[in-house]
Amino acid sequence: MFLTGSMVVNQKGHLEIGGCDLVDLAKEYGTPLNIMDESMIRGRCRSYLKSMEANYPDFEVIYAGKAFLTRAMCRLLEEEGLSLDVVSGGELYTALKADYPPEKIYFHGNNKTTEEINLALSRGVGRFVADSQGELELIDSLAGEMGKRANILLRIKPGVVPDTHQYIQTGQIDSKFGLGLTDGQAMEALDKCLELDNLELKGFHCHIGSQIFQTEPFALAASIMMSFIREVALSRNIKIGELNLGGGLGIRYLKKDSPPPIDEYVKGIAHMIKKKADDYNLPLPRIMIEPGRSLVGEAGVSLYRVGIIKDVPGVRRYVSVDGGMSDNLRPALYKAKYEAALANKADQPSGEKVSVAGKACESGDMLIWDVQLPPVERGDLVVIFSTGAYTYSMASNYNRLPRPAVVFVREGNSDLVVRRESYEDLVRNDLIPKRMEKGD
Ligand SMILES: *Cc1c(COP(=O)(O)O)cnc(C)c1O
Repeated sequence: MFLTGSMVVNQKGHLEIGGCDLVDLAKEYGTPLNIMDESMIRGRCRSYLKSMEANYPDFEVIYAGKAFLTRAMCRLLEEEGLSLDVVSGGELYTALKADYPPEKIYFHGNNKTTEEINLALSRGVGRFVADSQGELELIDSLAGEMGKRANILLRIKPGVVPDTHQYIQTGQIDSKFGLGLTDGQAMEALDKCLELDNLELKGFHCHIGSQIFQTEPFALAASIMMSFIREVALSRNIKIGELNLGGGLGIRYLKKDSPPPIDEYVKGIAHMIKKKADDYNLPLPRIMIEPGRSLVGEAGVSLYRVGIIKDVPGVRRYVSVDGGMSDNLRPALYKAKYEAALANKADQPSGEKVSVAGKACESGDMLIWDVQLPPVERGDLVVIFSTGAYTYSMASNYNRLPRPAVVFVREGNSDLVVRRESYEDLVRNDLIPKRMEKGD
């Protein structure tokens, strides 16, 4: 079995997380249900901060909100002393509605709208991570209208392209994000930023990718960014004080996965920055990292109720559950793979190979192809592991399925942090034109 964080199999043979029996949670909150091990999230936050503290003098750990963001999550982050990345007006609004301190918010995205920038400026977000010259001009003019100055990090393409098991360094990369180093785009944008009156250049940002299992590509990106800081110091005579190295540390989805520990990842980055600062005779910049998946991914599970079981003789057994691509798009979107168990039969040996199907009207809506489970019956509870990141945040109402509830569990208590959507929620914004109304 795939046990992480506070998971145990209790005396009833049920899976328990944060001291809460999943069979009881299913009864109380219904299914599908997203369950987050709060202590594990807090533990990960503390691991990042502790490793940073031990290895580098001036740092900030920023949570990438797109992985999973709700108002309770914002509270947790604030309590743990993490900053927050947002990529849209909606994420920003969520944080503001949780009274999250705006000065600790980093605003990302390749196409921030006028309305989004105005909201961010008026509420005083800490940094805009600017992605293009066009955006610099837009932020400058909107800040000018408001009589404010906007703090800017320029998003750079360091040209490091990692895969899960390898990475390459390329000259020019074809990506919608960031400003190229080799094609002069980064330097041009930097000059633009220095020239515009209402912008304050604070530093640089880069993000090389996600679900990365090696520490070398991060260190390589850090070293490339330090070279750029040096180039800027020499050619423009300015000191760059902040370097944000993005997120991307991988997590364990499958038993065989072994991502590097947080401490190793942090050390790799910190040592490289210190070494380069020393080589180039530069002051140490403040460094930021932006973990998303590695803070919440392994802390979450998805709980489903088994409905119809269909045998295709000689082919496979399809076990259909009451959720699917509407609450976890990753298998359909990326062919993502997961481990699973039966939460109500967690003490029973795996006896059969089945495939777990979602309930959406798409052949591609398969949560797991080929997984070993104890004999499955209608009414059993399938739990899928490591679903805390990029699942609820990607959920949709496809097939008019209401989005699931989310609970935080800790020390035997469960707290509902997102209510299950109702059918009423689904039609809340629907309107019927007057001419289509039914007469009496
Ligand atoms: C997605 C993203 C992150 C977080 O990535 P993870 O792989 O979830 O750690 C951080 N920074 C930026 C700019 C991102 O786009």
